[in-house]
Amino acid sequence: MPNDVRALLSSTPGLPPHPHAPRNAAGFGADTYNVDAMRDTLPRPVFERLLATIEKGERLDSKIADEVAHGMKEWAVARGATHFTHWFHPLNGQSAEKHDAFFTLTGDGEPILRFSGSQLIQAEPDASSFPSGGMRSTFEARGYTAWDPTSPAFLVRHERGATLCVPTVFLSWRGETLDQKTPLLRSMEDVNRAACRVLKLLKRPAGRVHTTMGTEQEYFLVDRKHFDARPDLVVAGRTVLGAVPAKGQQMEDHYFGAIPERVVAFMEEVDQAAWALGIPVKTRHNEVAPHQYEIAPIFEDVNRAADHNMLLMEVMRRVASRRGFACLLHEKPFAGVNGSGKHNNWSLATDDGRNLLDPGSDPAGNAQFLLFASAVIQAVHRHGDLLRAGVAHAGNDHRLGANEAPPAIVSVYLGEALSEIFESIAAGKAGDIASKTEVGLGMSRLPQIAKDNTDRNRTSPFAFTGNKFEFRAVGSSQAIQMPNVYVNAAVAESLDDVADRLEKRLKTKQDPMAAALAVAGEVYKEHRAVVFNGDGYTAEWVKDAAKRGLPNLKDTPAALAVLADPVAKGLLVSHKIFLEHEVDARYLIQLETFIRTVEIEASVMLRMVDTGVLPAAFGQQEALARSVAAAQAAGLKSPAQGKLLAEYAAGVDEILARRAALDVALAKAKKGHPPAPEHARAICDDVRPAMAALRAACDAIESKTDAARWPFPTYHQMLFQ
Ligand code: ADP
Ligand code: MG
Repeated sequence: MPNDVRALLSSTPGLPPHPHAPRNAAGFGADTYNVDAMRDTLPRPVFERLLATIEKGERLDSKIADEVAHGMKEWAVARGATHFTHWFHPLNGQSAEKHDAFFTLTGDGEPILRFSGSQLIQAEPDASSFPSGGMRSTFEARGYTAWDPTSPAFLVRHERGATLCVPTVFLSWRGETLDQKTPLLRSMEDVNRAACRVLKLLKRPAGRVHTTMGTEQEYFLVDRKHFDARPDLVVAGRTVLGAVPAKGQQMEDHYFGAIPERVVAFMEEVDQAAWALGIPVKTRHNEVAPHQYEIAPIFEDVNRAADHNMLLMEVMRRVASRRGFACLLHEKPFAGVNGSGKHNNWSLATDDGRNLLDPGSDPAGNAQFLLFASAVIQAVHRHGDLLRAGVAHAGNDHRLGANEAPPAIVSVYLGEALSEIFESIAAGKAGDIASKTEVGLGMSRLPQIAKDNTDRNRTSPFAFTGNKFEFRAVGSSQAIQMPNVYVNAAVAESLDDVADRLEKRLKTKQDPMAAALAVAGEVYKEHRAVVFNGDGYTAEWVKDAAKRGLPNLKDTPAALAVLADPVAKGLLVSHKIFLEHEVDARYLIQLETFIRTVEIEASVMLRMVDTGVLPAAFGQQEALARSVAAAQAAGLKSPAQGKLLAEYAAGVDEILARRAALDVALAKAKKGHPPAPEHARAICDDVRPAMAALRAACDAIESKTDAARWPFPTYHQMLFQ
């Protein structure tokens, strides 16, 4: 195992228990091997050593591993577990597991249950089919997983038993990262280092700085029978056909409305399953679109939050299918209806519980807050393109930059009050106020900022919301690790820069708080171009942003190209998140995933057209023709009916023509090996427009066809029944 990964695994303590987490509430964490379970099952010295690893970041002593494994197994078996698995997040965006039974046979054939320290600490999943972007050649295809003791092991219950899941990292034998957790742990460590450096200079030191994260998860629920009858939903997670109903979401009457009984039952089961798994879910409500909902947890350190979000998505899918629903996590399951995001509420907290993005109640706290906020502004301005790359995938293209979506420009919303304060300190009005009281500059208004949340921040991809930043561009189906790796790396770099500036000023004997304010003003002044408090969904903003030099990366290939850019690469490599070839590999994997995703969508669309839409349309056309012929036979002229038939037939021809055009576009875009950026470009420039054209033709026919003939559940059925 590479040394830094070994060190990370034994030195990235989780956030101390959140004071508001319902830890003592009945059932919370009952299916996790948490502190209580450890205390109950481990000898005292072993328990204390493990706790020191988890909470204080002390190195894990491999000698205690056997005893920890034994305790964990006893705990799991007592709760019905028969198997264990290392649980990890390979680069396909899913979680992966391979179950092994505790059951084994001793040398003399006696059946026993065993879980050894080495099985806990390391495993070799047969991982040759996980994406590696060429990093892993076949002769060393195995890769291995290694235990992350800072994220609690948990039980996944099945009908007849349960599996003990041990969160792990996943690496190649040469030590390359093949997963999402390792870079996240590295980036957390990097932010911790840089933030502690700044705090020390401010003479407000901290033992550790944690990245905190609360993810608001949006989703749709549709009836299982409708879902099963839509090959596009089953295969691609979104509808590639379907006429938008007369009543869409124009009224927005669903938002925060009463939740239907059946859905509440689903939510209750999800909440309870999540609580048992130690996922602190807290809020649930209707979202804007019909059948769209949201679930949000109390924030945690980002490593746990990422594991928990992954797990929560699995729980939601499972509970949905048990209850006759399908849970759609896709960013845009329905055209013409709101899409789904996953708002990443991001902040920094010290080990003694200070939120560094919470405006303080005293001048020194305020100066510290402004300094950290300015560092975030600088990070987003410098690396907005990388943040955009972090949320780039086929599904999110329908939410960012597409015709019915907001533009894909990464800007920061601060709100009027905070912007004014930054403007004043940037104008040099800070003077030596830090050493006096909070006179002038509206500094006394800082604690009020939390209340300055107008609705406008809803259109911002990166909004300050009172005591945290909300990165709203993340897609609902996405694993949150990589977007946060990029935010963390960019902020770490920015904090280092801020620390350098502070150091210079402190050498001139400037008071730390005055220096902090001066640096915050200076940084803001250089990067205020990224701050935008207006409506981010307008055409004017697109023009304005271009003048400000902010990139507008409209689709996945354009955004992913940032990973080949020396600035972005330089950041990731110099901050030791990745080696250079790891960035290249990830670029390739994501390009390929993008190409494959759209190809699958196009193929399922062609299949649905051939086996569903066209047969239905031919049937309708025949019925129309018969009707016209019957009218003529009866001596009626009925020119309108003749016209209708001609129009309908022209519509069917249109489908055939556009269907053929999609075939041609797909053939042209057929990817080579390895996939090249031009294949992805062809997908965007040729295949997607061909799909849109075919869809329009099919949707037009759908609205003229006998409902009883239509082969797929309609939007109306899926969204309003
Ligand atoms: P809002 O009203 O701005 O949406 P909420 O308090 O409802 O804010 O929180 C939204 C999400 O943000 C929740 O998941 C919450 O846990 C999370 N959150 C709150 N404070 C923080 C913080 N300091 N760091 C990270 N996430 C946070
Ligand atoms: Mg929200």
